[in-house]
Amino acid sequence: SIALAWFRRDLRLADNPALAAALAAHDHVVPVYVHAPHEEAPWPAGAASRCWLHRSLVALDRDLRARGSTLHVYAGDSLATLREVAAATGAHAVYWNRLYEPAARARDASVEQALRADGLGVHGFNSALLCEPWAIATASGGPYRVFTPYWRNLRARLEPRPPLPAPHRMPATAPATAPIDALDLLPRRRWDAGFDAAWRPGEAGAEVALQRFLDEALGGYAVARDVPSVAGTSRLSPHLHFGEISPMRIAWEIEHARVDGKEAFLRELGWREFSHHLLFHFPASSERNLDPAFDAYPWARIEPRQLRRWQQGRTGMPIVDAGMRELWATGWMHNRVRMLVASFLTKNLRQHWLHGARWFWDTLVDADLANNTQGWQWTAGTGADAAPYFRIFNPVTQGERFDPDGTYIRRWVPELAAFDARAIHRPWTVPAALRRSGYPAPIIDLGASRAAALAGYESMRRAE
Ligand code: FAD
Repeated sequence: SIALAWFRRDLRLADNPALAAALAAHDHVVPVYVHAPHEEAPWPAGAASRCWLHRSLVALDRDLRARGSTLHVYAGDSLATLREVAAATGAHAVYWNRLYEPAARARDASVEQALRADGLGVHGFNSALLCEPWAIATASGGPYRVFTPYWRNLRARLEPRPPLPAPHRMPATAPATAPIDALDLLPRRRWDAGFDAAWRPGEAGAEVALQRFLDEALGGYAVARDVPSVAGTSRLSPHLHFGEISPMRIAWEIEHARVDGKEAFLRELGWREFSHHLLFHFPASSERNLDPAFDAYPWARIEPRQLRRWQQGRTGMPIVDAGMRELWATGWMHNRVRMLVASFLTKNLRQHWLHGARWFWDTLVDADLANNTQGWQWTAGTGADAAPYFRIFNPVTQGERFDPDGTYIRRWVPELAAFDARAIHRPWTVPAALRRSGYPAPIIDLGASRAAALAGYESMRRAE
């Protein structure tokens, strides 16, 4: 018998439960990918994600060809495409790994219903999470809103299992389809060239990143994870987003590593789980404040010029600009710096977090609706379990603390390369050198803008 394996964001062959189950139950399995951005509205993949996706599909196709098969690629409507391919190949069943974003869930539910009505078997699996959002609840049976008790519960039940092996051979069953290029995922003007120096999309690249992390960084993770100038974190986020590696596989390796730093790292994987838990139970949160009190927060009038300066890394705040330029050049930004740029936008510039979330969505190669929403809402103070509002990051002291000699700033803001370790965090204190450097003066006064943010918060609380 014949089955379709519908690949979505599980672009790997190893530890892929849907693929493994399809291969176990059928003689022939046709790997299918359908490009249907309209089905993910209002959050279809952004420009940087599409660049990654293109490369990841090419890698998956190559891995399938090495096993005698090929990836069947289509653009259009998912249901119509699956129906056509099933009819053309004589497939009796469709296998996929579940997604959890509101739009994808709604689409998958209607696809499942329609395929079942056609008489096809439909089989869904978990491949993306350690624990699916509905499988964990508070003592009273509701969703968690606070990370620590959520993680305590999940950690206690976490039992990493060994990964499922990749298939050795997968005979082709259908003629090859359109080339991946036909999906038109790459930009016309190839601004994405810098990505290739920084990344290796695909399952093999994810494996290299995992091994590098285990060998070089896991032991020092608890401390080095906060230092943006060193490769102290795993950089697995885009690989995880596109499902080129499973979190279970990572947890399994971590469990068996004989070094310190394990718990700190598992906890971050826990934040990824928590973010998915929140988005699943609060599906409106990608557009709306999780804490509705913030609907009354007096955001500043939108200042397109200020927003552009933030996007371009020309705010005059060195660590913020270094982060925004790292993002533009590589499609990724260090977590500590993500918090700083987000705090600067939402608190000092008092722009709504959605402006930042949308920019990240378009520019991050790891753009992920659950993690991005949670990261922005946490930093803006509007989220579940957010930082207390009055704890506003100071980009100068944060820079001094986490990039003490300015190595990270020098790398991304070359205008400041000649500034010493003290002045590099506050270049406006040496006006002559600043003028010569071509680096801008700050677009906002840190003290005054902090006071304005706090005053806005007080007025919101009074209005409650
Ligand atoms: P590591 O430190 O090696 O962590 C391992 C994995 O754990 C990561 O790959 C990621 O999957 C997960 N993880 C780590 N930290 C977090 C976190 N705080 N929240 C959720 N998951 C986490 N992460 C994304 O994957 N996509 C996003 O779109 C995204 N947007 C963010 C926006 C803001 C404003 C902030 C503050 C954070 C955002 N994050 C996002 C979370 C975090 O910054 C990245 O996951 C992390 O920097 C990725 O680098 P890494 O793989 O080296 O992380």
